[in-house]
Amino acid sequence: MPKLTIEQLDLAGQRVFIRADFNVPLTGGEVADDTRLRAVVPTIQYALKAGAAVVLASHLGRPQGKIAREYSLRPVADRLEALLGQRVELVPDCVGPETLARARSLKPGETLLLENLRFHPEEEANDDGFARELAALADCYVDDAFAAAHRAHASIVAITRYVQPAAAGLLMQQELSALGRILQSPERPLVAILGGAKVSDKLALVEHLLGRVDALLVGGGMAFTFLLALGHAVGRSLVEADCVETARAALNAARRRGVRLVVPLDTVVAASVDSASGRAVGIREIPPDQMGLDIGPRTCETFAAMMRTAQTVVWNGPMGVFEKTPFAAGTLRVARAVAEAPAFSVVGGGDTIAALAEAGVTERIGYVSTAGGAFLEFLEGRRLPGFEALTEAPV
Ligand code: AMP
Repeated sequence: MPKLTIEQLDLAGQRVFIRADFNVPLTGGEVADDTRLRAVVPTIQYALKAGAAVVLASHLGRPQGKIAREYSLRPVADRLEALLGQRVELVPDCVGPETLARARSLKPGETLLLENLRFHPEEEANDDGFARELAALADCYVDDAFAAAHRAHASIVAITRYVQPAAAGLLMQQELSALGRILQSPERPLVAILGGAKVSDKLALVEHLLGRVDALLVGGGMAFTFLLALGHAVGRSLVEADCVETARAALNAARRRGVRLVVPLDTVVAASVDSASGRAVGIREIPPDQMGLDIGPRTCETFAAMMRTAQTVVWNGPMGVFEKTPFAAGTLRVARAVAEAPAFSVVGGGDTIAALAEAGVTERIGYVSTAGGAFLEFLEGRRLPGFEALTEAPV
């Protein structure tokens, strides 16, 4: 790890600012899925055990720089209290004289949660003055928000200019190490599976992965842009016309590099996403008035067969409109195939993780990332501002 880690900090008697990603789904004012909270608990407990007082900070949703009750971290504070088995005091503002006074009076072993950072527009603007106010709340900084590491925001980047050292938390380290296994000397064959709707979001990733993987399996709505580039008629399936050329270039690049780029052989078609059922057809038989909404059974078997020999697997994006029962089979089949693979598997992205849960295989995946956007940017080989901002590890 080229950056300082929390284990290298002397935390006794210190106030530590822990930037977490508590951006969780809420229903009826309660946390609907606490995976992201549970993931940060070991870091909080580590700091408390080491004798620190903890100041926790996070964003939640997109309140557009204004105070909005529905984006309060109150439900997060309540759930964290239950998970930690101790009081987590929520302060009504993340900055200001009262918050500063409360942070300064914090005793070792106590935990304070700051209200939503994004109630202030300065957070997303990476504002220096705001970062300085946040930094004043603590003696050292720990970033455990891997899911937000692709954001150059004040509590992630600018803050590290004013509070040092800035170290990686336990979750941040775990994520970097699991995802690093994909990009740095993975056991081969390394197979990537990509799906989801938007091919434009994933073309940079496709290009980067082609230089690393042995095979790239493409499903979901994004596959139809590749099928169009191969000359197939795709009916009313999802297509991004301005990406066809890039998709064609990727297919050629794969051929040159000897990478197997596998597109669907068949698809489940219907008149619309609201159709009560679909029908599997070969890729050359998509009716002009229908759309492909899932990968078909032959594609499922091809993808599953490749899972049986893979040694490392990375997966992001559903294989079809899996939110609708008639078009969920492909995604669930791939989820089971990834779980059964003898490989080390890494899965990321909200939809894909929901699909793992629906298939009942979450526990059988090598590593389930808490990140979506940061997961994709890391795999694209981009530098993550949240990682770059951390203090260099001593040599
Ligand atoms: P993304 O955010 O790009 O990862 O896309 C996720 C969304 O892709 C999910 O909501 C799926 O319903 C959708 N999706 C997957 N396959 C298809 C498809 N064949 N046609 C339209 N949408 C799809």
